[in-house]
Amino acid sequence: MNTFLQQCVDAIGAKHVVVDPADMATYLTDWRRRFTGRALAVLRPGSVDEVALLVRLCNRFRIPVVPQGGNTGLVLGSVPDSSGTAVVMSLLRLNQIRSVDPVNNTITAEAGCILHHVQQAAVEANRLFPLSLAAEGSCTIGGNLATNAGGTAVLRYGNMRDLCLGLEVVTADGEIWSGLRGLRKDNTGFDLRDLFIGAEGALGIITAAVLKVFPQPRARLTAFAAMTTPAQALQLLALAQEHCGATLTGFELMSDFCMQLVNAHFPQLQLPFATSSPQYVLLELSDHESFAHAEAMLESLFADALEQEILHDAVVASSLAQSRALWSLREHVPLAQAEEGKNIKHDVSVPISRIAEFIAATDAFLQDAFPGCRMVTFGHLGDGNLHYNVSPAIGEAGDAFIARQADINRVVHDSVHRFGGSISAEHGLGALKRDEIRRYKSPLELRLMQSIKTALDPLNLMNPGKVI
Ligand code: FAD
Repeated sequence: MNTFLQQCVDAIGAKHVVVDPADMATYLTDWRRRFTGRALAVLRPGSVDEVALLVRLCNRFRIPVVPQGGNTGLVLGSVPDSSGTAVVMSLLRLNQIRSVDPVNNTITAEAGCILHHVQQAAVEANRLFPLSLAAEGSCTIGGNLATNAGGTAVLRYGNMRDLCLGLEVVTADGEIWSGLRGLRKDNTGFDLRDLFIGAEGALGIITAAVLKVFPQPRARLTAFAAMTTPAQALQLLALAQEHCGATLTGFELMSDFCMQLVNAHFPQLQLPFATSSPQYVLLELSDHESFAHAEAMLESLFADALEQEILHDAVVASSLAQSRALWSLREHVPLAQAEEGKNIKHDVSVPISRIAEFIAATDAFLQDAFPGCRMVTFGHLGDGNLHYNVSPAIGEAGDAFIARQADINRVVHDSVHRFGGSISAEHGLGALKRDEIRRYKSPLELRLMQSIKTALDPLNLMNPGKVI
């Protein structure tokens, strides 16, 4: 064992310095199993002091550090490169809820807390922590913050940046910044917290956070509506916001092709309509009065929408089981697409008002360049965020299709850029989009980002090769 690793063992114990290749394996491969990196070791500190001690050692020996939470990220940010020179710093042992303050409406959680456990801790205090996403059983608060995660309730509660009031961070040189202030107002200079949120571990290691919680809604109501065009889905969104205001917490779009895939690969999941429609929307209301109040709001919304010919059918879940079944249709879209075969994913955003136009234009560009390719378009319409995924034409081999990924990305991302959008709405840049973003950010933006990176991490040891 070399001197660096021996000092790591002295700092946190041999049990938590993982060097056996078999034991390291799960930390080195990304969630979608596209890439396996190499590492000197996986370090598993159990406290903020241990994180700081290890970062100081990494500084002394010039060892790059890849912070890792649940390793559910989708852009190769949480796995090391193939050089074998870095260590993975797993935060999973920092998993304590430090405090819950129902009066301040905050919860202070360590970075390695699994998102689902934080949601549960909030429920136990009769509060709601609203971040919710399909990986919530394994992703961590640190990873959520480092990627500024979104999910299904951004429309009402915002993304992780909006849900965080304070941070504790181990800086790149191994100091501990204690910024765990639960303040809603604090205008005392540059906002360091916002620098570390969304930085994907490239500026420092988040070890704990003060998060906002909210009163629990009295009732949740899910509905599914059928319409002809994405433009009508946008009209329904505007109408729903007028009728329901802040009660509207989710608004998800799915094309008919998404539902056909779900139907083909998960036939046990039933579409709630007898006949199919080109587009569907799933709406969720979280009501602070009562179920009946939410139901009345939805009835009035759908009556208006029918009269204005925005939609032609709608159902409202009358039980928790029905609500889960509707959400299940939405959640099975990516799984069904994976069952269908290889595909190319895009996580993009455009201004909400331009979504329909974006879909029509980009579909046309792609059909022109790659005839027969099949768009699997779904996402958080209420946030302007689409998962604009592409499957090969029927009969085209998956590998041949993937070989054209760069060309397909170029068509989609150029279109996103023309519509004033972002090529990464939720998942970050990681290693996957690090080079691609250079095409779309201005030289000034890139220069400013680089100066921040150099100022906070002058030795370039924090997740090098990611983001920038
Ligand atoms: P990891 O994957 O371990 O790390 C992600 C990045 O954060 C890496 O760059 C890593 O270096 C860095 N990092 C991790 N922990 C720390 C830390 N403590 N300090 C500093 N840097 C750190 N995302 C959404 O936004 N919305 C969704 O709806 C959504 N749905 C998803 C559904 C599925 C099925 C999956 C697999 C992923 C989904 N994601 C979604 C991706 C999302 O980014 C992650 O699920 C989550 O936010 C990452 O948390 P993690 O703990 O797994 O982080």
